Order: sequence, then C-alpha cells, then structure tokens
Amino acid sequence: MKPMLPFTRPSIDEETIREVAEVLRSGWLASGPKVKAFEAALSEYCGGRPVRSQTSATASLEHALLACGIGSGDEVIVPAMSFVATANVVVRAGARPVFVDVELDSRNIDLAKAEAAITPRTRAIIPVHFAGLPVDQDRLYALAERHRLRVIEDAAQAIGSSYRGRRIGSFGDLVCFSFHPNKNITTIEGGAVVGGSPEEVHELELHRFHGQAKRAADDIDTLFAGGKANLSDVAACVGLGQLKRLEEFNARRRTLAARYFELWAQEAPLRLPARGDEGHNWHMLTALLPLERLRISRLEFIEAMAGRGIGVGVHYPAMHLFSVYRAMGYHEGQFPNAERIGRETVTLPLFPAMALDDVDRVVEAATDIVKGARR
Ligand SMILES: *Cc1c(COP(=O)(O)O)cnc(C)c1O
Repeated sequence: MKPMLPFTRPSIDEETIREVAEVLRSGWLASGPKVKAFEAALSEYCGGRPVRSQTSATASLEHALLACGIGSGDEVIVPAMSFVATANVVVRAGARPVFVDVELDSRNIDLAKAEAAITPRTRAIIPVHFAGLPVDQDRLYALAERHRLRVIEDAAQAIGSSYRGRRIGSFGDLVCFSFHPNKNITTIEGGAVVGGSPEEVHELELHRFHGQAKRAADDIDTLFAGGKANLSDVAACVGLGQLKRLEEFNARRRTLAARYFELWAQEAPLRLPARGDEGHNWHMLTALLPLERLRISRLEFIEAMAGRGIGVGVHYPAMHLFSVYRAMGYHEGQFPNAERIGRETVTLPLFPAMALDDVDRVVEAATDIVKGARR
C-alpha cells in the first residue's frame, strides 16, 4: 500500500535548510537581519506597505486589535465559522465578539448579516478569507466606511490570493497573515500584520516587544506592559526561502483543486465549495458530507479514508458552540450555515507536493465510501 497521504504538508527545500544552518552558525538567532529581510520581501510582495512580523497570526490579530485601540466595551464582528483564533483574539483584547453567519459555499462572512449586526458599540470587523477565497472586498470596505469600522482582515489562509487582480495585503486596513506549517508558506510558527496607519504600526511594534521605546542605546522607556511576539531570524530565514516559491506553490494548488473539480464535474458525492477564480490560493479544499442521506457518521468517513491511507481534516466547528462562547450566551440554532458546515465539513488532501494521481485516489476513495453508505 502507498504511504499515508496527509491532508497537508509543508515543502521545505534543501537550499532553505542550508541557509537555516548558516543562521544557526551566525550567532544571531533572535530578531535580526533575517527578520528585516523577510519583512522587506513581504512588504515588496504586498505593494510596499508596512509589515510587522509576529510569532503567529493569533498574535498579529490580537496586536492589530490593540493597535486600533479596541478593548473593553467594544464589539467586533466575526464570522461564526473559522479557526477559533479569529474570535479568541477579540476576547483577549477585552472586547466582545459578535458572531455572524457565513455563506454556505464560500464559507465567508455574510456581509448583509454583518451589517445587520452593527450596533453603536461596534468598532471593527474581522473578515476571514476562508481557504484563501477572498471576501467581497468592495462590499466589505463600503460597509466599513458607512459605519466607520476598522477592518482587520484575518488573511491567515490567504497569502498570495487576490481580489479583482489585487493581492490580499496590498490594500485594505490591517491584514494579518499566518505562516504556521499548514499554511501556504511557513516560518514554522509566525505571522505578520501588513498595512495600518503610521500610529497603528508604531503601536504594533510596541505590542510585540514589551511596550518598550528605545530612544538611544542608554535611554529606554516602557510605555505599557506589552507582549512578546517578535519573530526569530531562524523563522524569518525559512520564510525567505518559502516566499520565493509562493507563486509556484499556489499555482500547483490551483492545478490540484481544478483536478478535484474536473473529476467531480458530473456528480460530486460531497458538496464542493465555491470555486472562485484565479485569485483563489486554494489553501484548503473543504467539502460537505451529505450526512442526512448516509448511514455513516463523519468520524466513520474519516476512519474509512484513513483505512485507505488518506488523511482528512475538519476545518472548522462553529465557534459560537464552543463552551467559552456558550458561556457568553450563544447557542444552537443561531447560525445555521456555520452549524451545518461545522457538522458536515471534511478537508481533503491538497498541498503542493501532491501528485495529480493522488487527487484521483482521494476522489475514488471518497466516492466509494459515500456511495456505499447511502441510505
Ligand atoms: C491558522 C489560522 C489562524 C491562526 O494562525 P496562527 O499563526 O497559528 O496563530 C487564525 N485564523 C485563521 C483563519 C487561521 O486559519
């Protein structure tokens, strides 16, 4: 039998490994020249906008909220289905996450419902470009302008995606990327905030390093009790090697995604997500299982796929049904699309090192298992 096919896997080349070894020998391991170079390269990729790297997208989002002055008494609109960081950061900033349902097939926040959820306390909105499919940016920013909201884009999954020909990160308010190993490029752990006003960028710098302002080598002040989220040179070195290959990686992801759609063009046994256009970076391929018409559970599907050597993920449960958010008063029945996705979604393998016939194998296995389990 073939080796296990995971649902994702990073691609690190030998050149990057050699360069990391050099960093390790250099004596400078924490934030130094490689972090500067990585920020400069990412800035160039994003049209010359300011970039402040962080140790994760979670830290990036949290610090972006704080840099915008969001805190106690404020409300921030978030989609009800995302990785839980999207909502947790709002709580950590001291504000209240206001969940809004997502669209079933794009998985992105329903902007009409977002507008209906705005109150006098709403200060910001955190849209998620789910699986790398951009949110309707024209509508989003028009809404934000009408209601004077700051937009903090959770672009953790959207590096290299573009909206109407413009790269995510090259425009908009504050755009947060993730470089976790599961994302389209990695720094092992890491993230970045792109954009922001000069004041916000300054605040981001303070938040990522103890709230410290250094006026001269012997003149340091601490303005507030800041956090600690600066990237290491080792991480940035990995990121530099990855960024060079981002376009190649994303082109490969689009080819693989197209293969899934081609093989399932006639009759897909799972409900496929919205396809988007060339601006989609295909961070993931998440499909919905028709559980109501099956004799098996999602877990049984996942186990059956594993039995055929195929890894399947779950991205994500609806956030408002987690204990932490139920304790704030959220409950079942509020966000039907998020809840349905949370129950039915499965993530099928999609990563640059996959072969086209790996897709064929996944499609065959999933089709077999679902068809064989129909009521
Ligand atoms: C991965 C992810 C995050 C968190 O990224 P980290 O770098 O692991 O902190 C946040 N939001 C979304 C939508 C993600 O996919």
